[in-house]
Amino acid sequence: MDVTAGSARPAVPACDTALVDQHTLAYIGLGANVGGAHDALRRAVALLASRPDTALQGVSRLYRTRPVGPVDQDDFLNAAVALRVPAGSRPELGAMALLTALKGLEQDLGRQQRQRWGPREIDLDLLLFGGHRLRVERDPAARSEDPARGGPQWLEVPHPAASERLFVLAPLADLAPDLEPPGWGRSVAAARDRARAREDPDAVRAVGVWHVGRGDWLPTDTVRGG
Ligand code: ADP
Ligand code: MG
Repeated sequence: MDVTAGSARPAVPACDTALVDQHTLAYIGLGANVGGAHDALRRAVALLASRPDTALQGVSRLYRTRPVGPVDQDDFLNAAVALRVPAGSRPELGAMALLTALKGLEQDLGRQQRQRWGPREIDLDLLLFGGHRLRVERDPAARSEDPARGGPQWLEVPHPAASERLFVLAPLADLAPDLEPPGWGRSVAAARDRARAREDPDAVRAVGVWHVGRGDWLPTDTVRGG
């Protein structure tokens, strides 16, 4: 794997590995606008939470969002989750393993190959992986091993579009408003407010609140104060 990691790795003596936290907090952005979009997002959260060695730490509100980009298509539903995941022996390996798992879940949830920016049954983006800033390219040998799974060929975290897109920032700010992702120069909430000032107020609307017991979002109008 050809790896360019932007963050300096702390020097950890080999004998201290037992003291190193073996997990990382990752944030995943979810989106869908084809078929049963709400159900796809709900199932995606359940599948993410059931992964081995993974713990669901938080689920944002559910948002109905206007599509961005050149293609005329239906509104999206978007959300974000916080997950405690295995850190990997190096951050770029842990992040790539998680992205590969996300791509596998997209396949399992029936994602079809379509044009970029176009409609999708489910989109799972790795927004943040701990405090790491990474740009990873798979080497060609690794690529040819899994063409049928449509595995990721490259990875960038923080996700390059996350700091500008209200449909990502609004749910992420539900979970981590004060977090300052590497390279952003501002908190998630500040980035959200900046993006919101540039958009039509109706472009991104909260429509659901996560109910832990039900494992689903309930409509905001049925939840007091939602
Ligand atoms: P979109 O950019 O609209 O989400 P896709 O979901 O089809 O499009 O992703 C295309 C490719 O983007 C993936 O196969 C993956 O290799 C790459 N990619 C790079 N960084 C990330 C990231 N942080 N999260 C998700 N995909 C990423
Ligand atoms: Mg994606």
